[in-house]
Amino acid sequence: MTRTGLPGRTLHELADGVWVWLQPSGETGVSNAGVVADDDGLTIVDTLMVRSQWEPFSEAVAALDRPVKRVVLTHAHVDHVGGTGQFRNAAVYATPVTSDLLEGAMPIDAYKAFMPAFADEFDDLAEIGTRPVSHLVDGAAQLTSRVELLPATGHTPGDLMVLVADVDVLFAGDLCFFGVTPLAFQGDPDTWAAMLDVVTELADVIVPGHGPVGGEPEVRDLQAYLRHCVAGAVPTGPWDDWPEREQRDPINIERAALLREGRDEIPPSMVKAIGFD
Ligand SMILES: [Zn+2]
Repeated sequence: MTRTGLPGRTLHELADGVWVWLQPSGETGVSNAGVVADDDGLTIVDTLMVRSQWEPFSEAVAALDRPVKRVVLTHAHVDHVGGTGQFRNAAVYATPVTSDLLEGAMPIDAYKAFMPAFADEFDDLAEIGTRPVSHLVDGAAQLTSRVELLPATGHTPGDLMVLVADVDVLFAGDLCFFGVTPLAFQGDPDTWAAMLDVVTELADVIVPGHGPVGGEPEVRDLQAYLRHCVAGAVPTGPWDDWPEREQRDPINIERAALLREGRDEIPPSMVKAIGFD
């Protein structure tokens, strides 16, 4: 089976004791999660967004019948942190930036405007809330005998990658979008593109935050796209059929231009997309 043909919305054992829960269409609000087994129990990587996503995921994790010891959040975006409450006894690991962002109130109206497909589920999420980060990760750390945490920046100022070196698998969080247009409203496309050189050296098998599992060719396509955004225009290329280009190209291009002027601001096209124009 090809990597792109891996089954979605089921726990698929990608390597020995490493599972992926893919929602490979990867559009806004539709992300991936993972599970890594150590002798003492499980480490969860990201928790999806709303009940219709995290309930089947957490049920499948429970069916593994091992204690969930740890949850690692790759960053603070709601499509990765919405299900933290499902793993009540686990320690929650993330960067200080992610922790700070999770302390703030959820901008539920902005979520509804930006992700109308899930509008009905955000009130439920607002009621449940997310768990706070219990363990701050401010440098590279060996979390377990198998799991290494690697802080990064590019998609947000507080990204965190999860490397399982013994099976050559990297959970890249939203530093990788494969076959899906990336979103850099809170990131730095220039730094992000440079960071992807590091990503290719970490592992051969890369689980992105959005889209199907891939490797270096998919990372290089993403890197080229981001560099075009920094240059101010995206020509025809392998990204021609990526979904959500129309909405995201202007956001990514504006964000790169603002940062070049020293302005760390939300791009006007993003402000419009979340209904605040
Ligand atoms: Zn994100």
